[in-house]
Amino acid sequence: MILSATQEEELPYCGDRGADSVFRRVVHFLRTTKVYRKDVIFDPHRPRCQLYGRICRGHKEVFVVHRPPHYPAARNLLHEGLHAIHAIYESGVGRETAIENLENKLWCELLTYKQKCFLGRFVPRHSVKKEPCHTIKKNNAGEGS
Ligand SMILES: [Zn+2]
Repeated sequence: MILSATQEEELPYCGDRGADSVFRRVVHFLRTTKVYRKDVIFDPHRPRCQLYGRICRGHKEVFVVHRPPHYPAARNLLHEGLHAIHAIYESGVGRETAIENLENKLWCELLTYKQKCFLGRFVPRHSVKKEPCHTIKKNNAGEGS
């Protein structure tokens, strides 16, 4: 685990005990995980679909896209962090809905602006070419245009 100066400071809190507990655990996950920003993430199970984020557990990596205003990278990191702290890495339909509900409640109702900005500090400024694990390559896609 790598410590930096920013990790010593106190976290911002919203005052809701449950939300702050989740926030603290998501921040811990992000501090122990390598965060990558991507322009596009394809869904390995549905190659024509795109994802907002993806965790590669074995590699301790998380990949997110930045799609403001509704899905900024900070929100997508929260979503992936919720999967991580609930030890849910594969998305079943019911589980995905549960995570989305929790994400919506936290992002839209409970977390403060400062907490969202804090999550945003984990997002790299630039996106990378590196692909998440298990991503299916677009074999027949042309390089044209
Ligand atoms: Zn999910």
